[in-house]
Amino acid sequence: AAGASARVDLDGNPIKPLTICMIGAGGFIGSHLCEKLMNETQHKILALDVYNDKIKHLLEPDNLPWNGRITFHRLNIKHDSRLEGLIKMSDLTINLAAICTPADYNTRPLDTIYSNFIDALPVVKYCSENNKRLIHFSTCEVYGKTIGSFLPKDSPLRQDPAYYVLKEDESPCIFGSIEKQRWSYACAKQLIERLIYAEGAENGLEFTIVRPFNWIGPRMDFIPGVDGPSEGVPRVLACFSNNLLRGEPLKLVDGGQSQRTFVYIKDAIEAVTLMIENPARANGHIFNVGNPNNEVTVRQLAEMMIKVYSKVSGAQPPETPTIDVSSKEFYGEGYDDSDKRIPDMTIINRQLGWNPKTSLWDLLESTLTYQHRTYAEAIKKVIAKPVAS
Ligand code: NAD
Ligand code: UDP
Repeated sequence: AAGASARVDLDGNPIKPLTICMIGAGGFIGSHLCEKLMNETQHKILALDVYNDKIKHLLEPDNLPWNGRITFHRLNIKHDSRLEGLIKMSDLTINLAAICTPADYNTRPLDTIYSNFIDALPVVKYCSENNKRLIHFSTCEVYGKTIGSFLPKDSPLRQDPAYYVLKEDESPCIFGSIEKQRWSYACAKQLIERLIYAEGAENGLEFTIVRPFNWIGPRMDFIPGVDGPSEGVPRVLACFSNNLLRGEPLKLVDGGQSQRTFVYIKDAIEAVTLMIENPARANGHIFNVGNPNNEVTVRQLAEMMIKVYSKVSGAQPPETPTIDVSSKEFYGEGYDDSDKRIPDMTIINRQLGWNPKTSLWDLLESTLTYQHRTYAEAIKKVIAKPVAS
């Protein structure tokens, strides 16, 4: 299309079509990134994952407008000799592959560490050796707890942003003790960040590291018992969606006092597209990507989701809207939590001029509309089915 060829980068230069090796393309973030790159750009994607359910609509039928620009390669990067070849064929590699649900961090710490550190090593190595650019997905969790969380509860300093706003180039990474296995994920992500940074410093690897702050939206995780294991514990959006769809109370872990900032996946994906298309502005940087204006406690998130779901489904809120559960009961031994996560936006603002747009209410309204449309009927069937003996 004429419009597509006229696209320019932030410095006014025309954007050349790239071939992108996207690892973990079949996941939540990958599916949205593939969708945007197919709809709005001329880039090609080699989509690597063990699953492709979330990008099926982009792969079939074969008369889609972007026909041929996206190809799926079903492979596990743990053990597949095709990986290096696919990286070599590409201009840029984006690595999204990871175990990244908190329920796994303390119950499957070995898989978590292997997935987030060991399995990412060959990707970094092949990029470095073949002089290929790498965009690696880390996490806001590398910051761990805020400095402020160690102050007395009534300390006025807790109100001072210096004690809680998380800055890429200044904030320390503060994790709990080793038996708090929750931190196995953050620690593995921190070490792979340091390794990538060192490859940049010593061997000239062109890299960008992304630290997502609770990106949420349609297709995130799974609904237990419908498109995932009935005993599985996804991230909070899918947990609360599942409770709402089933008319059950939402479970607040340790009282739901932890604070999070949520950003709409579609806003966040715009930031990633800017990184892809503005290498000179993105290389060598670590970027927070989140929405500092959308801060709530988990309890407030639950309350808002209950209201929004009533609005979009027309159903009455459950009689007991929320219940408290202990983290030990919900996640098991070794769970711990990040207290508060507000991203500093200075660097991404300066380098890429990016700002999030969507309010928490609006993003929940579109996301819960999607959840209701996608799952409400399936849930009714699951509930109606007699339990197999
Ligand atoms: P996701 O689980 O939906 O996607 C990850 C994808 O990687 C999955 O499709 C999975 O099948 C694939 N994968 C995992 N191991 C693989 C392997 N060995 N070989 C091939 N494919 C493999 O998660 P997401 O939310 O899309 O997250 C993507 C990345 O962003 C992860 O690195 C995660 O740590 C990071 N992140 C996301 C958020 C968020 O808010 N969603 C927050 C912090 C960090
Ligand atoms: N949480 C909760 N109830 C649930 C699921 C999660 O209270 O059913 C809490 C969890 O303890 C954490 C927050 O919600 O404080 C966000 O959890 P999530 O799994 O989304 O990931 P995190 O932000 O901790 O990486």
